[in-house]
Amino acid sequence: MTAARSFLFADAARDRVRADLDAIDAALDRLRETSTDMVGNSFRVELTERLEHHHRVTRGLTYRMFAEMADPPDGAGHLPGGPGVRLRDALATRLRLVPREVTRRFKVAARITPSRSITGAIIAPELPVLAEAVESGAVGEDHITEVCKALDALPPIAAHEKATIEATLVGHARTQDADFVADVGKRIADTINPDGLFDDAHRKRQRGFTIHTQGPDGMSRCSGNLDPETRALVEATVAAVRPGHHVPDAGADVVDGATDTRTGAQRMHDALKLGLRAGIGSGSLGTHRGIPVTVIATTTVADLDQAAHAMTDPDVPMPRPARTGGGSSLPMRDLIRLAANAVHYLAVFDDHSDRPIYLARSKRIATADQRIVCHARDQGCTRPGCTRPGYQCEVHHAPDWSAGGTTDADSLYFACGPDHTLVTRGHATTTVTDDGRLAWSIGGAPPTVNPLQRDADLHPRPSHR
Ligand SMILES: [Zn+2]
Repeated sequence: MTAARSFLFADAARDRVRADLDAIDAALDRLRETSTDMVGNSFRVELTERLEHHHRVTRGLTYRMFAEMADPPDGAGHLPGGPGVRLRDALATRLRLVPREVTRRFKVAARITPSRSITGAIIAPELPVLAEAVESGAVGEDHITEVCKALDALPPIAAHEKATIEATLVGHARTQDADFVADVGKRIADTINPDGLFDDAHRKRQRGFTIHTQGPDGMSRCSGNLDPETRALVEATVAAVRPGHHVPDAGADVVDGATDTRTGAQRMHDALKLGLRAGIGSGSLGTHRGIPVTVIATTTVADLDQAAHAMTDPDVPMPRPARTGGGSSLPMRDLIRLAANAVHYLAVFDDHSDRPIYLARSKRIATADQRIVCHARDQGCTRPGCTRPGYQCEVHHAPDWSAGGTTDADSLYFACGPDHTLVTRGHATTTVTDDGRLAWSIGGAPPTVNPLQRDADLHPRPSHR
């Protein structure tokens, strides 16, 4: 796919690319200013088709850039954000993309662009037919997704067989929509998948479980692929939650089955909750960064007090949810239910001082209060723009500010592993602000705090009281 590209020296290439992009911008400006009130719908269809094609060609070029950035033919070069800043983060910041989208693009790009071996020899792309279709703008993002999905779902087969299937799928992608391609993929899989072709390694690759972004109602959609063993465990747990058993809020573990109105899906959900609670409550999950694996939630005295009243008095509104160490919202009602089951570590913070005034814990937890303080004060990584929650963070020591030089909680802050490395390697420096937060300076930029740490910085909320 690269054969037709002529070689240019750096300056000439940059000038030409900029001039071409300027020409495109100018043409788009004109397009935006041109009235299409009287052109007729058949022309609008023609226009839409061409815009879709442009979009696909642009996307193909984008993938080329991602592939080149991941493995630059001219060496690494400089990155926006200074040395030590990871490419993924620099791109996410500059393009304002969520990091997982940047990661996704790198992954797709790696599959449809040639790579180089250690000796410098060019290796053909993993998916050469798809690569050509992407570069020419013949297929769109949804086609790419379905072709990759269909190929990844295949059992282990010979390379030439896989290449034939790739050609078939891409052939359809050039003339049909993505649903059609997905359907073809399923039928091919059915014809070449007699029983027994799937092995353990295949299942290992395919296994996965994703909890999607938490909705405004506090609910989270899940999707995934369970291996047979996990499914067997879930099935056994669901059996324990058969009608009449472990009904939430029923007051007893077993009630009359006829009064249990839960659907099968609701019982499956309750079974998962029961199993996880039992697993965490057993203490057999070990420790996580010094704290026995448990649910960490932070809230304030005022909110907790209000919640306690709201549980019995319908006139009192429920306060805002607590925050978990995983970065999600936990409504007060759920927090109190969790606490009742004694599988919790609850940190309560005063509204004004941001210092812990009450720590309730299950007995087996020793002293990990400093880390809990970080959970409540920082909530997650303190590097500006980083969204990693507290469970994924290490404790960073900011000695400059600690008055006595002790490891008081005031001198300990959360930083995720990669960002902590930025500091320890000297690519970033940290200072403590007057109000006790950790400010980061990266690449000589002025120190800033992570606005994600406090809700009040993002969106001031009215007082509940
Ligand atoms: Zn981070």
